[in-house]
Amino acid sequence: MIQQIKAAAKAVIPEAQREQLKRAAQKARLFGLRYQCPFCHSRLKALEPFGYDFPVLREKQVIGGGYREEAQCPICLSLDRERLLYLYLREKTDFFSGKKKVLHVAPEEALRPVIESCPDIDYLTADICEGRAMVQMDITRIDYPDRTFDVVICNHVLEHIPDDAKAMSELFRVMKPGGWGILQVPISLSLQETFEDFSVTAPGDREKVFGQSDHVRIYGADYTDRLQKAGFEVERIQWEDDPVFAPGKNRFGLLPNEPIFQVKKAVT
Ligand SMILES: [Zn+2]
Repeated sequence: MIQQIKAAAKAVIPEAQREQLKRAAQKARLFGLRYQCPFCHSRLKALEPFGYDFPVLREKQVIGGGYREEAQCPICLSLDRERLLYLYLREKTDFFSGKKKVLHVAPEEALRPVIESCPDIDYLTADICEGRAMVQMDITRIDYPDRTFDVVICNHVLEHIPDDAKAMSELFRVMKPGGWGILQVPISLSLQETFEDFSVTAPGDREKVFGQSDHVRIYGADYTDRLQKAGFEVERIQWEDDPVFAPGKNRFGLLPNEPIFQVKKAVT
């Protein structure tokens, strides 16, 4: 009987509307007061797990890379770190007001359409893999002039790049004086010094040593020093210190202890 009703509904309801109904039913099933997704505005009783569960990530207390029980919105699939980035841009910066030219490297799936919908933002998305963004870009050799972008967003990319100093200096070069950026990486809370070993190249070995098959290092507390060497002024921000992120109950399902690395290029 249920199958017959489903078949009849399929015959008379257009596909777009069927998708809307499916989404509404899913939202109703997952409804709860524990979490609120800033992207799709769903109120949710739980989030979905996400991330890799390699022992090294636990041993070195790596934030932003390991397995998290409650990380992904089941409705729009946004991740904890993406929700933090969006909330930070929306609540703590002027990102969404005024004209600006933005470079977004390896754009996050939930954030990208939000930025695309802003008429004042001249938006360029880039990715090392062809077809994933508006342009293909190796950020160690950026094919744009000096002082091009007001804002650069480049998250969870630098840990993949052997010559990260070159990538950082390229991002600095294409940023306008007075410009700023968000440069997130998975970061160890236990390491003072970044751990890297370029003799480890096999994907399986990198999983064991760095916690992901295509990572080349685990950043430590000296990540800020590396950014400063490239010329940036760096601010390390903890979201738990600011009521705007609802830290008491972690209403937005953010990743505990995840720092935000905001960089600036001084006006000279
Ligand atoms: Zn959502």
